[in-house]
Amino acid sequence: MEFRDLKKQYQVLREDMDRAILGAVASGAYIMGPQVKELEKQLAEYVGVKHCLTCANGTDALTLALKAWGIGPGDAVFVPDFTFFSSAEVVPLEGAEPVFVDVCEDTFNIDAADLERAVQSVLAEGRLRPRVVVVVDLFGLPADYQAIRAVADKYGLLILEDGAQGFGGSVVMAGSDRPSRACSFGDIATTSFFPAKPVGCYGDGGAVFTDNDEWAALIDSYRVHGKGQFKYDNVRIGMNSRLDTVQAAVLQVKLKAFAEYELDDINAAAEKYTERLKDIVATPVIPEGFRSSWAQYTIKLRDSAQRDALQAALKTEGIPSMVYYPKPMHLQTAFLDFSTRPSGLGRNDSGSMSFRAKSRNLDLCPVATSLCSRVLSLPLHPYLTEEQIDTVCAAIHKFLR
Ligand SMILES: *Cc1c(COP(=O)(O)O)cnc(C)c1O
Repeated sequence: MEFRDLKKQYQVLREDMDRAILGAVASGAYIMGPQVKELEKQLAEYVGVKHCLTCANGTDALTLALKAWGIGPGDAVFVPDFTFFSSAEVVPLEGAEPVFVDVCEDTFNIDAADLERAVQSVLAEGRLRPRVVVVVDLFGLPADYQAIRAVADKYGLLILEDGAQGFGGSVVMAGSDRPSRACSFGDIATTSFFPAKPVGCYGDGGAVFTDNDEWAALIDSYRVHGKGQFKYDNVRIGMNSRLDTVQAAVLQVKLKAFAEYELDDINAAAEKYTERLKDIVATPVIPEGFRSSWAQYTIKLRDSAQRDALQAALKTEGIPSMVYYPKPMHLQTAFLDFSTRPSGLGRNDSGSMSFRAKSRNLDLCPVATSLCSRVLSLPLHPYLTEEQIDTVCAAIHKFLR
């Protein structure tokens, strides 16, 4: 059994896929070919925003957004403590500082109440300017943008939606009768086309979404060496971050399958898991009006001993499972310098990262820290069969009984 069966997907899409890839190769337009512009139009329409700009990967997409906003030294960027490393990695890369925020036990997404506490502690310390909150649609479920927007508006924060896992998810917002799609909730939103994401290409790829004309123009410049009026007019320090024409061709085929049936099929598979597992283990919570794109199907066990034993038991039956994520951001070695929440007294008294500061890590973001020891993600993809779901659920029942 595969955790995410991309080979099976290729077999299903093979005819269209081979034609698209060979067509791109034969065309000779390898960089920024016509498929790139077509795909950007299709993605923008699907998401329901004015601009889509593709780029080299989901991490660069986040970086491009921060560059468009001019985020840098002296700026605080709030990031959920339970996410993939990229969501926070891009912040110090721009010279700004990540401030970690706890998540909700039920949805795994950023906790708006803890966001407000984190902003207040940064303001009390007075060293950094609160500028941006990175909001991750973790495992495919959109975050609670209504609550987050209220805090963001109160403190003048921009919302950067990290939709790397969320593409395809949706929410019926209050006062609306139609669902709004992920990657339309942030002031700028990003996604990733890494192969295992909800919509993936055959390599690396990413995209940025926004309704704002000025930011879109800046991102278009930053992604091609800070270009100005033409390619060899360089007006700012930028990046080389484009989506290959071949990957755009792949994504056109994948987006069609995703919109036509894959998203429905993966939701049906997730529902079957939940039906068969909800009485014996903590299954994912999808709030009323929300729809997930199911980047992961993640259950919660009692503690790390039970989780690790279940993972081992599944392995002996040939069932793959993954721990997303084993370590909260604030305990990552790379973020040691950013692992405290300002107390209002200054970062520490001695000038460098002190023992006192490190010891405070222990009570930062308790929910995220606890989740890291209890979560387990099960095999899930649109081509998972009913028999495979039964096999996984039977193994879990056997272990927990
Ligand atoms: C995968 C991922 C990214 C980064 O995407 P890449 O295309 O691998 O650079 C960023 N944020 C989250 C939440 C992700 O899951």
